[in-house]
Amino acid sequence: MSYFFSASPPRTAIILAFCGFLLNLYPLPLFANVQLILGNAAYVIAAVVLGPRYAVAVALSCAAGLFMIWGTTHVFVLFPLEALVLAMATRRGIYSLYAGVGFWLLIGTPLFYLYGLTLTSLPVSHLPFIAFKQAINGLFYIGLGAVLLLMLPKLTLSGISHPKTPERFSDKLTYSFTLFISLAMLIAALLFNQFFIERQQLLIKKNLQNNALHLSQFTFDYLQEHQRAIAQGAQWLSMMDGGSEKQQHWLTLFNHGYPAFLTMLIANERGHIVAASPAARMMDEAIKKGEYSVADRHYFKEAFYNQTPFVSPVFMGRGFGSDPIVAVSAPIYSQGRPSHPSGILEGSLDLNRFVLIDKQNRHHSEQYLLLTDENNRVIYASAPLNITALSEFASAESGLEYRTSLQLINLHDLTNPNPEYIYAQEPLANGWRLMVLTPFAPLMQMAETQFLRTCILLIISMGFSFYLARLISRMLTSPLETIAHEFNSPGKQSKPLPADAPAEVQTLYQSLKASQQQLLSYQLELEEKVAFRTFELEKANQKLQALAERDPLTGLYNRRYTTAGFAPLQAMCERSGEAIAVVILDLDFFKAINDNHGHLAGDECLRQVAILLTQHFKRDSDLVARYGGEEFLLILPMTNALKIEHHLNLLREQLARHPVVLPGAQEPIHLSVSVGAAVANASFSDTLEAWLKVADDNLYQAKAEGRNRVVCTLINDEIPRQQVMDHKP
Ligand code: GH3
Ligand code: MG
Ligand code: MG
Repeated sequence: MSYFFSASPPRTAIILAFCGFLLNLYPLPLFANVQLILGNAAYVIAAVVLGPRYAVAVALSCAAGLFMIWGTTHVFVLFPLEALVLAMATRRGIYSLYAGVGFWLLIGTPLFYLYGLTLTSLPVSHLPFIAFKQAINGLFYIGLGAVLLLMLPKLTLSGISHPKTPERFSDKLTYSFTLFISLAMLIAALLFNQFFIERQQLLIKKNLQNNALHLSQFTFDYLQEHQRAIAQGAQWLSMMDGGSEKQQHWLTLFNHGYPAFLTMLIANERGHIVAASPAARMMDEAIKKGEYSVADRHYFKEAFYNQTPFVSPVFMGRGFGSDPIVAVSAPIYSQGRPSHPSGILEGSLDLNRFVLIDKQNRHHSEQYLLLTDENNRVIYASAPLNITALSEFASAESGLEYRTSLQLINLHDLTNPNPEYIYAQEPLANGWRLMVLTPFAPLMQMAETQFLRTCILLIISMGFSFYLARLISRMLTSPLETIAHEFNSPGKQSKPLPADAPAEVQTLYQSLKASQQQLLSYQLELEEKVAFRTFELEKANQKLQALAERDPLTGLYNRRYTTAGFAPLQAMCERSGEAIAVVILDLDFFKAINDNHGHLAGDECLRQVAILLTQHFKRDSDLVARYGGEEFLLILPMTNALKIEHHLNLLREQLARHPVVLPGAQEPIHLSVSVGAAVANASFSDTLEAWLKVADDNLYQAKAEGRNRVVCTLINDEIPRQQVMDHKP
């Protein structure tokens, strides 16, 4: 396996801290001011591979990055705490995703909510969303960190202890499944949300723009229509002859045709009102007396002196209600003198007519109207906007840091970074401006609700995927466990595989079972073979030993064995102050027996003598050996020194008295033996040669004295007293 990088823990921590800090400086903008932070994945990795201390250090660095863009200090508490919890959980063998869910459920979200409630000015209604969003974000970067950890080869870090107990395969499988599914769903949910919100924004934007365009057109048409009406009216009046009464009558009729004019008047060249509508206005004393002049008014001056049709800026109507109005005027000419005005026609156009359009518009959606004139004064504002007409229009672009394509504006709290309205505006040809606005909060609310809903759905699906993953991994691992159990304790009653075990596992089980059987039969065969071989070997060993120790003809010990066996016997007897007898026996005239009866008969005789010897000397400690040819050697420890000669004579006599009768032989074979013995306390000598010398001399003497006799030497008087006493009587 190639390693991701093998570094010391401090170096790894520094790299992770740097990456986390950098990533957190550039959070992923989601909607409005909602952001997704990714850098915290760095301390998730640190918590798993480096342990608590490094994890907290890396988390502090990640928090520093967030502090730089958010300016809030809670990041230095919440995130290091999370890192610590994750690291401790890892030490206890709990997977980070599970630990993360636990942390955000029990600690993170409540803590953040509490922080928002006590230490910030965030609106309370907004808090659950922000806290929840933080938790989802937490799960996202934990998932990201965990997936990175799964995908990257293991880090090898010196000085980091990993949990000793091996992970269970089924747990690991469940975790990996859950992790991948959760992360995939999380990404899908976020993308879906993003897509949905973007689309919603686009709809709102389009709708506002359309309405603004439509309404501005309508407004402009309204103005132009009435402007044209005044111009046309003035033309009529220019062509009309007759007195003021006729003019008054015409004006009343004309006003009926254009009811949007609140008031209308005809003024003469001096600005005196000659006709007015409603006609009641003419009842005014000053007007009646011809003292009231409008010559100083803009609408008079522009129409009369400049001879241009005129639309005034907005002003508040006086006398006839307090609605915002514009004065529309045009010059009236004297008949036949087209360049000499004889007065003006003026109509005060009621702008409150917008209420009707506004109401109609608002019927469809929560949209407000705002109309400003060329001097940036408010001509009309929908009542909910709470802006008085004719006031200076004050506004501030807002939500500049929001990720949105919408135009956002504040009309009341101009310094608040949170936007109040979304708007679209359309300028009119006459310098007026029409705005259509809709409150921003409902959109935000909808986005939040949408986010909450998808996330709740996500959490439910996470639980479900965990359950499913567990089910699948159990299906896979439980037959494996059965197999492991089965082959771990082969003697026990075997448990059958579950019926739904996968085919591969079934095959594995069958082949393992077959090889186990084969192995067992091999083992039995081997054991049998080994037992047989061992038996053979033992037999061979015994044979070998016998060959090494015994004389093949008589079955007595051989010379080599006897020679080697003397030393321990002598030492033992010397310790306990016992006597030893060393005896050499030589058959008399044996050559003749061979010559007379044949070599085979000679062999048989030797066997018979051997039997006789073993019958006479049957103590366990007695060594009876064939010394060579027809000579025998006896080493008799713990011998009664005074009785041995007698005992030897008994043997000699028995042999001499009982000739050997061979089956099928015509005559019995007479045997006799000459015996030379040396009897002494064991301390006499520890070399066999010394003893043999005495015995051999005695044998020689026995032969010389005529054979068939025992010559025994009691070497010194250190023979135990008891034995001497026994002998005296
Ligand atoms: P003596 O000892 O009385 O002086 O006379 P002897 O005939 O026994 O003389 P000696 O000891 O010199 O001869 C030994 C004979 O024993 C020679 C040989 O023929 C015989 N002999 C030695 N070993 C064996 C044996 O293993 N089998 C048989 N059949 N004869 C043996
Ligand atoms: Mg001999
Ligand atoms: Mg002999």
